[in-house]
Amino acid sequence: MNPTHLIHHPYRPPDGFDAPQPGVFKASTVFFPDVAALRSRDWRNKQGYSYGLHGTPGSFMLEERLCTLEGGRQCLLVPSGLASIALVDMALLKSGDEVLIPDNAYGPSKALAEGELAAFGITYQRYDPLNPQDLAARIGPRTRLVWLEAPGSVTMEFPDLPALVRVCRASGVTTALDNTWGAGIAFNPFDLGPDDAGQGARLGVDLSVHALTKYPSGGGDVLMGSVITRDEALHLRIKLTHMRMGYGVAANDVETLLRSLPSMALRYHAHDVAARRLARWLQARPEIAQVLHPALEGAPGHAHWQALCGAQGAAAGLFSVVFKADIAPARVDAFCDALRLFRIGYSWGGPVSLVVPYDIASMRDPAVAAWPHGGVLVRFSVGLEAVEDLQADLAAALRAI
Ligand SMILES: *Cc1c(COP(=O)(O)O)cnc(C)c1O
Repeated sequence: MNPTHLIHHPYRPPDGFDAPQPGVFKASTVFFPDVAALRSRDWRNKQGYSYGLHGTPGSFMLEERLCTLEGGRQCLLVPSGLASIALVDMALLKSGDEVLIPDNAYGPSKALAEGELAAFGITYQRYDPLNPQDLAARIGPRTRLVWLEAPGSVTMEFPDLPALVRVCRASGVTTALDNTWGAGIAFNPFDLGPDDAGQGARLGVDLSVHALTKYPSGGGDVLMGSVITRDEALHLRIKLTHMRMGYGVAANDVETLLRSLPSMALRYHAHDVAARRLARWLQARPEIAQVLHPALEGAPGHAHWQALCGAQGAAAGLFSVVFKADIAPARVDAFCDALRLFRIGYSWGGPVSLVVPYDIASMRDPAVAAWPHGGVLVRFSVGLEAVEDLQADLAAALRAI
């Protein structure tokens, strides 16, 4: 058998195969019919294919669907949620610039600023996301980018997102939202309400990053991130960095996401309903000082959640509790260890409920915003198990301590 005949085979499948899921398109190399086609093809547009890193039918399809999900026009895919944050920082910041990050932001975003960005001569400040005046006071002539998160990671305070965006607009600073929690379902990051500019203009962030690892994947088994924009020039600027950094995503992961997206809204809702039920139940427990869930009355930023998400009424299936200060950290660890259905692990949005205790004081800058609680914080990601079973699991673990 001559291997050449297996490699350059004349059979081509017929066109017109139509089925619920698209095929899996794997490529580093993409063939050109002739040298003229190779020379004239522009990798920056989606009129054709030039190399696996610059896109395949599967990645283009996923990009378009994610734009639909989040209300954007252009999308870039990267290998993780954190990579989408890093890509935006790399693309938009240079030596001498400053970036502002909410004090309660996703931790590795602050670590990147303290590590690589500082080494590149880019400075950063944390701001109090619940105080738009604090953000306004920190914006200076070197501020190029403001990160936003609604709600904050782990501590779940919901900011007045439109007010923060207005502050940035007033000084012409680019806004980047980590939209992993809202996921394109709880609110539209590109339409946060009427813009002061009037004439029917709508207020929105400049770009939205999303850890697709969470709800879009829904399986706890895929890592991916996206960067979505509505401005072609901004998109192109980030796309050039994307290309030069060599970011790409795996075809099988793209396929998994395309398979998970159709059920995402149903899953998001199911996680939400179960999480709120457990959060309310925990509110009444004597061991708990406060439940941090933006859709619950009395939670920090609840009114802002109500204003932005009230129409849909949706929230992610994620919340934290602060134990009473007289319950020592070792007993809170024992509580987490005693859980059987809630597994100990990072991330969220998958079928399995997860729990992680955090030492919040060590994650905050007291000069920016004081953390008012003395007790240990535990974050729950509610999965898709029967909610009565999860409640029984929590009750048994509380009894055990
Ligand atoms: C998980 C997460 C990320 C990072 O996503 P990875 O895919 O794990 O890198 C970023 N931001 C938020 C808010 C997250 O929850």
